[in-house]
Amino acid sequence: MTLKEIKEGQSARVLTVGGSGALRQHFLDMGIIPGTDIKVVKYAPMGDPVEICLHGYELTLRLDDADKIEVEPTTDTVRQKAEAPKAVSEHLGLGEGGRFHPKGSGDPLPEGTMLTFALVGNQNSGKTTLFNQLTGAKQHVGNFPGVTVDRKDGSILGKADTIITDLPGIYSMSPYSSEELVSRNFVLQEKPKGIINIVDVTNIERNMYLTMQLLEMDIPVVVALNMMDEMTGNGGSVDVNAMEAMLGVPVVPISAAKNQGVHELVDHAIHIAKYQEKPQRQDFCDENDHNGAVHRCLHAVIHLIEDHAKAAGIPVRFAACKAIEGDQLIIDQLRLDENEKETLEHITLQMEKERGLDRSAAIADMRFSFIMKVCDACVTKPGESREHERSRKIDRVLTGKHTAIPVFIAVMGLVFFLTFNVIGAWLQGLLETGIDALTAVVDGALSAAGVNEVLHGLIIDGIFAGVGSVLSFLPIIVTMFFFLSLLEDSGYIARVAFVMDKLLRKLGLSGRSIVPLLIGFGCTVPAVMSTRTLPSERDRKMTILLTPFMSCTAKLPIYAFFVDAFFPRYKALIMIGLYVLGITTGILVAFLYKKTLFKGEAVPFVMELPNYRLPSARNTLQLLWEKSKDFLQRAFSVILIATIVVWFLQSFDFRFNLTEDPRTSILAAVAGLFVPLMRPAGLGDWRIVTSLVSGFMAKESVVSVLEVLFSAEGGAAAVMSSLAAASLLVFSLLYTPCVASVASVRRELGRRWALYVVLWQCAVAWIAALLVRLIGLLAGLV
Ligand code: GDP
Ligand code: MG
Repeated sequence: MTLKEIKEGQSARVLTVGGSGALRQHFLDMGIIPGTDIKVVKYAPMGDPVEICLHGYELTLRLDDADKIEVEPTTDTVRQKAEAPKAVSEHLGLGEGGRFHPKGSGDPLPEGTMLTFALVGNQNSGKTTLFNQLTGAKQHVGNFPGVTVDRKDGSILGKADTIITDLPGIYSMSPYSSEELVSRNFVLQEKPKGIINIVDVTNIERNMYLTMQLLEMDIPVVVALNMMDEMTGNGGSVDVNAMEAMLGVPVVPISAAKNQGVHELVDHAIHIAKYQEKPQRQDFCDENDHNGAVHRCLHAVIHLIEDHAKAAGIPVRFAACKAIEGDQLIIDQLRLDENEKETLEHITLQMEKERGLDRSAAIADMRFSFIMKVCDACVTKPGESREHERSRKIDRVLTGKHTAIPVFIAVMGLVFFLTFNVIGAWLQGLLETGIDALTAVVDGALSAAGVNEVLHGLIIDGIFAGVGSVLSFLPIIVTMFFFLSLLEDSGYIARVAFVMDKLLRKLGLSGRSIVPLLIGFGCTVPAVMSTRTLPSERDRKMTILLTPFMSCTAKLPIYAFFVDAFFPRYKALIMIGLYVLGITTGILVAFLYKKTLFKGEAVPFVMELPNYRLPSARNTLQLLWEKSKDFLQRAFSVILIATIVVWFLQSFDFRFNLTEDPRTSILAAVAGLFVPLMRPAGLGDWRIVTSLVSGFMAKESVVSVLEVLFSAEGGAAAVMSSLAAASLLVFSLLYTPCVASVASVRRELGRRWALYVVLWQCAVAWIAALLVRLIGLLAGLV
C-alpha cells in the first residue's frame, strides 16, 4: 500500500521510496527513507496535498508523490513522548580545555587576512535573524551572479576583516534546486574560510542532515544550535560537549531571536577560521551497520577517486558520496576514465546488493543513522513543545477542512483593506501632500529666481511630477510588505501554499504563487518583488509573467471614468466583469505557458510546515528597510530617466521648440505611428493612443491626458463611441504594466523578459480589444 492510502491520524512505516531524479532525492534528503515512521496529520481542504509528520516535524507532499512511497501501516505513533533527561554538562567556552581547538596554539592565518564565512542552514532555522544580529544593519544585498537568488553580505559587528554571506535556506547539498546549487557552488568554489551552520534544535534530526554534508566539505565549521530558548523552555536539553566530541567541531547553543550565545558563536567562528581548524571527523559510516556495506563502499570509492578529487579541488569524502549517489555534475568534474567509472559502478552495485537499498537511499540512510546516534546520545527531547501544541491548535482553524479557505479570504481581505484603504492610503496621502508642498515651494523659488522656462518645466512637470507619482507608491509597498513579512515569518504563507496548491497546480503553478498573484490586484511592483519567496525558478518566472493580468488598483480610475461616462447603469457589473476578464485571460495564458514556455516538469512540492512563531520586530524592520531602499534606488534611476524622456517627448516638437499644444509634441507624433496599428481595435485616435502611451508611465495618467487632449471638444465622453470605450476598457485592463512594474520585472528576470512582458501584454490586449470591437459590430453597436 502507498502513503496516499493512509487515513488521517494513522501511522505507517516507509518500505520503499519510488520516483526518480530530483523528486526522489528530495524525499530522501527530507528524511523519507525506508524504515522511517510517518504519521499522516491531515489532508488539505481540497483533498490534496497531504501533511505528514516524521522525524518530529511536519512536511507536505502531493498525493501523486505520496503514491510513490510504499508503506506498511503501523499502530505505534511517531515518537513524541518526553524522555528522561540525560546528563547535561556545562558548555566549555573558548579556551577552556580547548579540546576542539587543537591548533589553538598553532599558526593562525596572517594578521589582516579577510575571514570569509558562509551562513548555511535550513529554511526557517533562524538564518535571517542570526544574520541581522551578526551584521547589524550594515549589509549589502544583491544577487548571486547569474541567478536571482538573494545574496546578502555583511561584516560581523565589531570585527574588522570579516565577511559573512547569507546563503539561501537549503535542506541538502544536492544540485536539484537553484538555491542548493548556489550554496554548493559557493562553498566549493569560493571556499569560505569558515562555515557557520545554523541548526534549528527543536527540529534537530532533519537539520543535521545538512550538517553531515557540510562536515564533508573539509572547511572549518561551527555548529550553532538555534532556538535553544524554545528547547529548554519545554524541558529539553542538549549535551553540547558530547555532541562536539561526536561531530568534531565546536557546537554553540544560541538563541538568535534573544541574542543569547551569539558572541560566543562569533568567537568560535573567528577562531576556527583563523586557525583553519577543519572538522575532526568526516567519517560517519559505521562499519557495523548492516555488515558495513555502505562503509566499505564509501571507503573504496574514496580510494578510487582521491587523486581525481584533489585535482578537481573537491573535498574527497563529499565527492565520494556524490559519486555514489550518481551526481552527474560531480562525476563530470572528477574526470574519471572508463575503467574507473566501471569500478565505481561495480562497487556501488555490490553495496546496493549487500545493503538491500539503492545507492541514494543507502547514503541518506547512512547519514540519518549517524544523526540518530548523535541525538540519542546528546539530545533530551521535550514532550510535545508548547509551540508545537499551539501550532496544532491554530492549524485546526487555519488549515481546517471548512475554515481554511474562508479564513484565507478574510486574512487577505484584511491585508488589502488595511493597505489600500487605511494605513497605506493614509501614508500615501501624507506623502503626496508633502510632495505637493515641496513642489509648490520649488516651483515658487524657480519662478522667483527667473530660471529658464525649459529647465523649470523639466524640474516641475518632469522630475517632480514623474518621480513624485512613483514615490507615492512607496507607502503602499511598505505597508504591503509589512503585512506580508508578518504572514511569511509567522509561518502562515506555508499553510496558504498547502491549502491552495491543488487549485494552482491545475495552472502548472504551486500553492506558493497565490500570494504574489493576489498582491498583483493591489500593485504589480510589490507582487513581482514578493516572488522572491518562491522556491522554484520556474514557478517564479511564470508567476511574474502572470501578475500583470491581475488588474492593479492604479487602473481603477480608468474604469471608473469610462463606466461612469458610458455605462452608468451597469457600473458594478462591468467593474467586476473587468476583473474576471483579467483573471480568465491570465488562466488561459497560464495554460498556454504550461504547454509552451514552461513545459518542463513542475518542481516537486515537498514543503516543510514550520511551527507558528512570533515574527521578530528586528527582522520585519530590516525587511521593510531593504524593500524601501530597493524601490527608492529604482525610483531615482530607471524611473527618473524614463520620466525625463517622456517629459521631453511631451514638451517638445520636432524642431525642439517648447510646445504648448500637445498635438504638435513628439509624443503625439510617436503615438501617431501607432494609430494605424490601433485602428482595428477601435482605438485609432491619436489622442487615445497618446493617453495610453502616457499610461505606460503611470496608469492614473490615462484619464487626465485624455481629458486634456479632448478638452477642446468637450471631453472624451462627448467624442468617443461606447464601443470604443469598451475596447479601451479592455485594452487598458490588459496592456503593458507601468514603468515601475516593468522595472521590477527587469530586476527579477532581466531585460529580455521585461521587454517580453511589454510586448506580450500589448499583443494580448490588442487581440482582446479587437474581439470586443468585432463582437460589438456584430451586435450592431456603433
Ligand atoms: P530563516 O528562514 O532561516 O531566515 O529564518 P528566520 O530568521 O526568518 O526565522 C524564522 C522564525 O523563527 C522567525 O519567526 C523568527 O522570529 C524565529 N526565530 C529565529 N530565531 C529564534 C530563536 O532563537 N528562538 C525563537 N523562539 N524563535 C526564533
Ligand atoms: Mg529568512
